[in-house]
Amino acid sequence: MARCLKQGRFRLENKLRKIVDALAPALVELSHDLSAHPEVALEEYRTRDVLSEFLHRYGFDLQKGVGGLKTSFVAHNGKARHPAIAYIAEMDALPSLGHACGHNVNSAISVGAAAALAKAVGTDAARIAVIGTPAEETGYGKPVLIQHGVFKAYDVAMMSHASTKRMSYRHMLALKKIRIRFKGRAAHAATYPEEGRDALSALILSINTINSMRSSFKPYMRANGIITHGGTAPNIIPDFAEAYYFLRAITMDELEELMQWIKNAVYGAAKATGTKAGIIEEGYPQYPFYVNEKLAALYSGVLDDLHLKQTNVSPYTGIGSSDIGQLSHLLPTLHTYTPIGTNAHVHTSGFRRLAVSSSADEGIAEGALVLALTGYRLIHEPGLLKQIKRSHKP
Ligand SMILES: [Zn+2]
Ligand SMILES: [Zn+2]
Repeated sequence: MARCLKQGRFRLENKLRKIVDALAPALVELSHDLSAHPEVALEEYRTRDVLSEFLHRYGFDLQKGVGGLKTSFVAHNGKARHPAIAYIAEMDALPSLGHACGHNVNSAISVGAAAALAKAVGTDAARIAVIGTPAEETGYGKPVLIQHGVFKAYDVAMMSHASTKRMSYRHMLALKKIRIRFKGRAAHAATYPEEGRDALSALILSINTINSMRSSFKPYMRANGIITHGGTAPNIIPDFAEAYYFLRAITMDELEELMQWIKNAVYGAAKATGTKAGIIEEGYPQYPFYVNEKLAALYSGVLDDLHLKQTNVSPYTGIGSSDIGQLSHLLPTLHTYTPIGTNAHVHTSGFRRLAVSSSADEGIAEGALVLALTGYRLIHEPGLLKQIKRSHKP
């Protein structure tokens, strides 16, 4: 039985490899085209059209503008309701930097994996979809689509991010974006200073208090901010001041702990300075990534079978935040990393150039094959998907 399975796998791997090889030039063209026409969060209209119409040519049905976002799309193939696999296509670029996060590569990988898998298994075996998720960089897209039930029909979601490393997962930080606002009382700074209550000084006091707590932060706690409003003229005591902060921690509980410290710093400063303070949370909180160990192990197994060695690095190295975190709490989710080169980090112009290099083009073929094989095993290995779903307890 094991031997039979192995032989079956080998045949299938070869079949999928041939399909991906045949698709690769078109996927590379797609990736380069997206990089040449970058669109920032919620403006990904052209990107949506280019990706979804590519899939339409491979037999996928299309819905554009789903889940309350105009630039999203769902392209799906297959008549079966289950197993239902959602490949995630991130689409947005960074303001002024273009595709410096490599989402041109990510989306080409997902589109390639879905098209190859659909061709290999036919239309009766599964529901295979690509979901175009806008606005990853602002942490906005996936939470909105989740709220609108776009992922309800799916058993698993998966994508691979362009990277300098090859990994089956990496941890992520919970994130909250907050505005800290102080309201004071304006007065002439020279003639009637005693009438004023200085909102800027109150804000600076709260910032200094936050900084004085840094030495006691738990590992991975982060509080990074800028002053966005500090008054209008030196001869007016500022009646309004504002800072914009990103707070991060490795768990939601620790994020709440950090938030409580920030509240104490802010409201304590308000009390001391006779001002009023407010903290406004912006957008959606981002969740830490929940690793489904069985699903990650399945992906690692595919890498092993293809003799693709994972980078020997802790999954806690270089971690940030992404809205895929929230999706990972909803259903078993893979967010893997496919190497596209080594000489640049994400969110730099160097990485944008790397993401259209020949090594990135090879990365697209690799990522598409690995994700397609992962999907294939979910469809054809009895019980595996059940185990993965049963073990999902975020
Ligand atoms: Zn990014
Ligand atoms: Zn990214």
